[in-house]
Amino acid sequence: MPRIARRGLLFVLSSPSGAGKTTLARRLIDEDPMISMSVSVTTRKPRPGEVDGRDYVFVDDARFAQMKDGGELLEWARVFGNHYGTPRAPVEAAIGAGRDVLFDIDWQGAQQLEEKLPHDLVRVFILPPSAQDLAKRLSARGQDSPEVVAGRMAAASAEISHWPEYHYVIVNADLDTSSASLRAILTAERMKRERQLGLSDFVRRMQSEL
Ligand code: 5GP
Repeated sequence: MPRIARRGLLFVLSSPSGAGKTTLARRLIDEDPMISMSVSVTTRKPRPGEVDGRDYVFVDDARFAQMKDGGELLEWARVFGNHYGTPRAPVEAAIGAGRDVLFDIDWQGAQQLEEKLPHDLVRVFILPPSAQDLAKRLSARGQDSPEVVAGRMAAASAEISHWPEYHYVIVNADLDTSSASLRAILTAERMKRERQLGLSDFVRRMQSEL
């Protein structure tokens, strides 16, 4: 099979907390060597089990402000009282080299990426199968206080209201099914003619040999 050069794409997953987005993102990264996770910077404190540099780069307010003001962030937002942002350099390097980048960011970040890189962006929204399911998953996490869980339930409704801004919507009732849907979306988007930058050369060469 000839390898046809292509431009990488930005694959954005958004959802309310507790809809299974992180699990779906990890599965995709584990199964597909051509896509890697964008590691955000945040001023939030690490949760138990989170690793600096893998889950997030944990920074203080001063460092975050410096990155924002210095143009080092592709997008940024305040979520639940903390700042989150996407470092620009790794994303630009990856898509230029034909590799895809997966983003676990909220609707505010997705909107900013849409303004900056509309042609490279594919936005997927993950919905929980029901309000009851979401409540169960949020309290089963056991890492946050009841007040934080209650706050996230309220915020879930606001996040969900942004579903029409996304290209694809997956109702995550079953992880295996949702995972397969996500892979199918990525596969189809990679085939888009305008992303396959090497096609003209490939076809020209073929025609010269016909
Ligand atoms: P958590 O604190 O639970 O890890 O994340 C809280 C929310 O912040 C999630 O909805 C997540 O998608 C969002 N988020 C994480 N990183 C970023 C980022 O770099 N930019 C934006 N806009 N949102 C982010």
